[in-house]
Amino acid sequence: MIDVVENHSLQSLNTLAMPSIARHFVAVHSEISLLEAIHLADQHQWRLYVLGGGSNVLAQEIIEGLVIKNEIQGIQLLSDNDDYVIVEVGAGENWHETVQLCIRQGWYGLENLSLIPGTVGAAPIQNIGAYGVEVREFIESVRAYDCVDRVWRDFNNKACEFDYRDSLFKRSKNRFIVTAIRLRLNKTFHAKLSYGALQHLEPSTITAQQLSEEICRIRLTKLPDPKDLPNAGSFFKNPVVTMSHYHELVRKYPNIVAFDAGDQRKKLAAGWLIENAGLKGYRDPVWGVGTHVEQALVLVNPQCRSLVAVMSIVEIIRQAVKENYGIELEIEPQILGDQVKSVYSVA
Ligand SMILES: Cc1cc2nc3c(=O)[nH]c(=O)nc-3n(C[C@H](O)[C@H](O)[C@H](O)COP(=O)(O)OP(=O)(O)OC[C@H]3O[C@@H](n4cnc5c(N)ncnc54)[C@H](O)[C@@H]3O)c2cc1C
Repeated sequence: MIDVVENHSLQSLNTLAMPSIARHFVAVHSEISLLEAIHLADQHQWRLYVLGGGSNVLAQEIIEGLVIKNEIQGIQLLSDNDDYVIVEVGAGENWHETVQLCIRQGWYGLENLSLIPGTVGAAPIQNIGAYGVEVREFIESVRAYDCVDRVWRDFNNKACEFDYRDSLFKRSKNRFIVTAIRLRLNKTFHAKLSYGALQHLEPSTITAQQLSEEICRIRLTKLPDPKDLPNAGSFFKNPVVTMSHYHELVRKYPNIVAFDAGDQRKKLAAGWLIENAGLKGYRDPVWGVGTHVEQALVLVNPQCRSLVAVMSIVEIIRQAVKENYGIELEIEPQILGDQVKSVYSVA
């Protein structure tokens, strides 16, 4: 039996603390209750939206439709051999707690993804990544309900079409509701220390627990805690440009920060582009929305302003980056509600 709440506030359920009302809201704890919720939405012709931990959404002020909060729990060991395990995890499990549990069990690979906020079900949506590791490296399959064809689907890794902060699920907005993922984790620990801030660590002696703790320590010093300062982590994707565009930029900005992106392309550090455009620590005088003083890539919303206020600042940043470098920045968080491109100018 599901319990639908009318006019439910989502302000405490999104890390940007945006004021938002869901006309209809339900938390689901099983695939059966998820189907009940979908059936109810069909009957009332409500549009469906899925919410996990709310750490990567831009919530509209009024969301006409049914917001489903995915709270499906459960962690199950499906297979175990000398080299690896396959573990199935419910979409509503907390991501960081899952990483910690895996480390304690001796199931390795996820250490660099420690302390990323949110749920397990959202991890494949934007193919979460940090410190040189992406979740796609460990995803065996994703189980999801297809709201268009009305069937359950199991996507193997290839079918998820993972890319940098992207996947089939993200591109087919609101079509698939993830209920569980299967992770293939190693029984032997290999520290991945290629990322700059980790290179001082000793790969032959460091343990998985120590690496995870170091990642947590670095993250806590670099990123503001949404409880103290509402934010959604990195707000813009690092743009990828052609070599000729990159060389043109290097002539003008010799210090530009860039990484190889394969296929004769370069990935530019969006944080550097914003900072160099003079917008690090920028705050809108009226709304207070702006960029973090120490990390230009993080948009902060100290006065808990609405989506319209946040997007107006996003536009200022995107405009400055366009004018300075000829680059259209793309935002990482997803709009929760009816996406109206022309109003919010989302790339
Ligand atoms: C301080 C901070 C640091 C962060 N650091 C990182 C980082 O290092 N790397 C990184 O990649 N991200 C990072 N993020 C972004 C965010 O934590 C991740 O994208 C996370 O996976 C979002 O999980 P969530 O449960 O909060 O998803 P939500 O914010 O609730 O949802 C995000 C999107 O996924 C959809 N969704 C959620 N659950 C499901 C589901 N079960 N089925 C279908 N669709 C679903 C939603 O509809 C929405 O479109 C950070 C965010 C914050 C606030």
